[in-house]
Amino acid sequence: MSDFATLADITGEPDGWAATYGDEAESRVGFFSDTSVGVGCKACEVACKEWNVIPEDGLVWTGESYDHTSALGANSWRHVAFIEQQKPLRDHDSDGDAIRWLMSSDVCKHCTHAACLDVCPTGALFRTEFGTVVVQEDICNGCGYCVPACPFGVLDKRHLPRFDPSPDLLPAFGKKEDGRVWKCTLCYDRLKGGHEPACAKACPTHSIQFGDLDELRARADGRLAKLQAEGWNGAQLYGRDPDDGVGGFGAFFLLLDEPEVYGLPPDPVVTTRDLPEMWGTAAVAAAALVIGILGAFVGGSR
Ligand code: SF4
Ligand code: SF4
Repeated sequence: MSDFATLADITGEPDGWAATYGDEAESRVGFFSDTSVGVGCKACEVACKEWNVIPEDGLVWTGESYDHTSALGANSWRHVAFIEQQKPLRDHDSDGDAIRWLMSSDVCKHCTHAACLDVCPTGALFRTEFGTVVVQEDICNGCGYCVPACPFGVLDKRHLPRFDPSPDLLPAFGKKEDGRVWKCTLCYDRLKGGHEPACAKACPTHSIQFGDLDELRARADGRLAKLQAEGWNGAQLYGRDPDDGVGGFGAFFLLLDEPEVYGLPPDPVVTTRDLPEMWGTAAVAAAALVIGILGAFVGGSR
């Protein structure tokens, strides 16, 4: 196996992660976000900002809906999307004028196969002993390679002035803005202390459920079966399947419509999947070029 193949394989495999930590590996944890009970209170957004001391992101009145966060970003690690639909809540409801609001709290998916980890050249992004994906603010150099690598557009550079304990020193380094990438840490500091993440703790309806990933998957299967038996329109699990293009999400969802309706990719694939093959093809092409040039020199000298 080539080094490139090893690079693409090891970071995302749960077995590889557990073996890396040995006895210190914990059960893989994550989120099951059940959007059928989300009420759009945005308590998760606020709790995340408070706990992680995230700066405000503009306080902009979008004029598009009651959702003024709009998207995940460097300063919004949780985002509750509001989607207004002219659609009945259940399959058998015949009211053609029925309106429903879909509310889904989006977050980093803490992918099983995380392309952001594969491309980070500094090791700022790493997989924790809990199987989650975290970016270390004191190591990130702001190169931004991970930003296009994420299939969900989660990673984002912070363009606000950099906060530092010694702001008087900043002019000496020419730092006009933070420039580093920021995203959900699944509250790594809280997990280390034996606490559940701030957003799950604050959620008043238990739409955001935190726990052992295998238990959450079993719970989600039961919830989906109940909703489907009751005829809920469009109920489906998103990111629960370990056989999908990213090996399943550490933070997965029960949605009430297709993922695209929520602005989510319908069939996400780890973007580094084809890297080994691409590097192999490039190596073959480079070797052919070198042989051709040598051939030209040898032929020309006769
Ligand atoms: S959602 Fe994006 S940032 Fe989060 S683990 Fe997956 S690839 Fe990385
Ligand atoms: S787990 Fe922590 S960092 Fe991630 S969205 Fe929830 S509160 Fe924010």
